Amino acid sequence: MRQTDNLEIVGPNPTGTTNIKIIIGIININMNNWTICDNNFDEYLEKLKTSYHRMENDVEEMKQILQNWRKDKELQELREEIRQLHKNTLLIMTDKEKKEQRAFCDKHYESCKNGGSYTYHLCGTGIGTSIKIECDKCHEIKDITDVDSW
Ligand SMILES: [Zn+2]
Repeated sequence: MRQTDNLEIVGPNPTGTTNIKIIIGIININMNNWTICDNNFDEYLEKLKTSYHRMENDVEEMKQILQNWRKDKELQELREEIRQLHKNTLLIMTDKEKKEQRAFCDKHYESCKNGGSYTYHLCGTGIGTSIKIECDKCHEIKDITDVDSW
């Protein structure tokens, strides 16, 4: 038994039955009024051990089920968060678009001393959204659309 587990046998009581209380971790099992025949006590004890180990295995399985359920719940919450983000966002850039945008900004940081003033032009085409970036200093415009993502 683990340190937190507990087994308590009370009886036999006047009716010839025994009350058994088993605590495995947080699971509390009461088996009241079990009949124990004194001549078969060893046999009964073996059955009880087997039963105890079976219940211990059940508890481990239940812990695993609970752990998986919590993981599923977390995944569902993350999926819902992503769905909300897509719903409430004009555009989520692909890695390729983000790389193009970064390169454009770096170039105009050097040439125009533009520290972060850019205008984005979004255009829905029916099959995807095109994205153009414009430097607010020199007004150069570059199409950074990743059509592979359409
Ligand atoms: Zn510029």
